[in-house]
Amino acid sequence: MSMPSEGLASVLAPVRHVLLDFDGPVCSVFAGVPAPEVARRLAEQLSGPDGPPPGHEESDPLAMLRRIADERDDLVPLADETLARLEMEAVDRAQPTPGGVAFLEACAASGRVVWMVSNNATVAIARYVDTHGLGRLIAGQFGRVSGHPRSMKPSPELLFAAMAAAGARPGDCIFVGDAVRDIEAAHAAGMDAIGYANKPGKDAALTRAGAAAVVTSMGELARATGGGSSESFASLP
Ligand SMILES: [Mg+2]
Repeated sequence: MSMPSEGLASVLAPVRHVLLDFDGPVCSVFAGVPAPEVARRLAEQLSGPDGPPPGHEESDPLAMLRRIADERDDLVPLADETLARLEMEAVDRAQPTPGGVAFLEACAASGRVVWMVSNNATVAIARYVDTHGLGRLIAGQFGRVSGHPRSMKPSPELLFAAMAAAGARPGDCIFVGDAVRDIEAAHAAGMDAIGYANKPGKDAALTRAGAAAVVTSMGELARATGGGSSESFASLP
């Protein structure tokens, strides 16, 4: 389900600060170096005399990191650092999301401030932002706290950190993300969320999770955010 633009516009009207997920709305982090390959290399690099790390069978490296945090606290610093290095490599081959930059520009043009809030490593996000010249459109980046995987969404911890940096209240903010855990984290932080359903079937899951609105393209969200001439968004997907 995608929303009529008037519905989106009313969700966006009070928003001054946009907390934005990275993997999904901005780019597809593991488009060039697939997540299962990253997971396999992470497991390999963490295997030692005690065998492979907990969650070594996971195809999602962030899920593996969560399992390690639950079961092998001693391994967390090395696991987090190793994964951050692999994510740095992955972002160099990440696929930008169509309409993602247009959304950032629409936020800037409409006087809204964007804060990146992501379970990926801050160093990897910063590398992507630099490489793609997006620094002028993003006020700050809150990746998972290094060595503290429990900071990851659905925890609201990173959202609270972004709000503190912004000097904002939940009512001034919205979270935009493509996963149910993004919606859950937003609600735990007291704010509404817009779901980005980038795959078939995700819209229903995001709606069920309580997203205030769901879009199927970032271009649609850019158009609803406005701030510039509507013509500049007309050709967006
Ligand atoms: Mg995401």
